[in-house]
Amino acid sequence: MKFNTRAIHGGQQNIDPAYNSVMPPIYQTTTYAQSAPGVHKGFEYSRSGNPTREALEKAIASIENGTYGLAFGSGLAAIDAVLKMLKPGDEVICTSDLYGGSYRLFTKVFSDFGIKFHFIGMENAEDIENVVNAQTRLVWVETPTNPMMNIIDIEAIARITQNHRLLLAVDNTFATAYLQRPLDLGADIVMHSATKYLGGHSDVVMGSLVVNDKKLADKLYFVQNASGAVPGPQDCFLVLRGIKTLHVRMQRHCENAKAVAHALKANLNVGQVYWPGFEDHPNHEIAKRQMSDYGGMVSFTTKAGTLESAVKTLKKLKVFTLAESLGGVESLAGHPTSMTHASIPKEDREKTGVVDSLIRLSVGIEDIDDLLTDLEQALN
Ligand SMILES: *Cc1c(COP(=O)(O)O)cnc(C)c1O
Repeated sequence: MKFNTRAIHGGQQNIDPAYNSVMPPIYQTTTYAQSAPGVHKGFEYSRSGNPTREALEKAIASIENGTYGLAFGSGLAAIDAVLKMLKPGDEVICTSDLYGGSYRLFTKVFSDFGIKFHFIGMENAEDIENVVNAQTRLVWVETPTNPMMNIIDIEAIARITQNHRLLLAVDNTFATAYLQRPLDLGADIVMHSATKYLGGHSDVVMGSLVVNDKKLADKLYFVQNASGAVPGPQDCFLVLRGIKTLHVRMQRHCENAKAVAHALKANLNVGQVYWPGFEDHPNHEIAKRQMSDYGGMVSFTTKAGTLESAVKTLKKLKVFTLAESLGGVESLAGHPTSMTHASIPKEDREKTGVVDSLIRLSVGIEDIDDLLTDLEQALN
């Protein structure tokens, strides 16, 4: 089946043997009656498994072209589960321009448990070779990166991780499975903050992992059950509903973001515009190859280049809401240095281009004329 069909039907066969409901029932239950000790219909306790969650996990696996899906209480809980497969002394290599919460989890939580993290720019995949050693276990990649929209060549990185027998995990939150499928490009684990585009309506916090390897799936399932960061059935239902329109929403997100990126580039009060669809974007060719379109995220700096100019612009926006997060149907504007990336030290974030005048847009699916008018009045 093709992507648009899988978004709607993937993994959804025989989801309600009782009444053949088209959507899976919300199994709001913690436990399941057993007919004899240990004899049950596949579910014992809802931390270990829940039919609504299973329907969602199969759907996510299907859109990522993967075999096993796992849902978690948040994107960070999903990342947390991956890291819990490691042991003290193990090392991880990750993209330097990382989601702020992932950076905090790595440096403030797992560092204390003896795991070492190397942050490097991965635009040149070979740079990984300089930090790989006998302790390296995992390479963690985000592409497009947040908020600088750098593009990292997943296939090139996968060749290196396969050579050294390392795990490669890709945070696919920004692109989604609609634009890019990391497992097909050689990654071992694909991770999502389903809070963003998969849910798509800014009403659920959730995370997911998808893998192809049975042993890896078993390990992650063990952590999911042992640590217990699972989502509730109602939330699983909502994300499953979100996925059914992922392809149509993403199409419009991409279309609108393209128009916004070009309008910003032409605006005299704008400094730099970061969007991988520009031909002069440093990794445009890779984006063109590994993604089917360029996504709904655009970042830019003000021409004045000051904190005040960014704050002034953000306060004047009317259709764009000033808020954290991304990937919902409504347009959001964020200020990375005071919001999503505030937990990253100033000198570290400025090295990657996250300056005080940077504004990040999650371009929604409203009418494009209203979005462009709003940006223009806020900038002028
Ligand atoms: C939001 C986000 C996360 C964290 O997900 P939560 O659902 O907020 O825990 C991780 N990576 C990226 C790229 C994100 O945007």
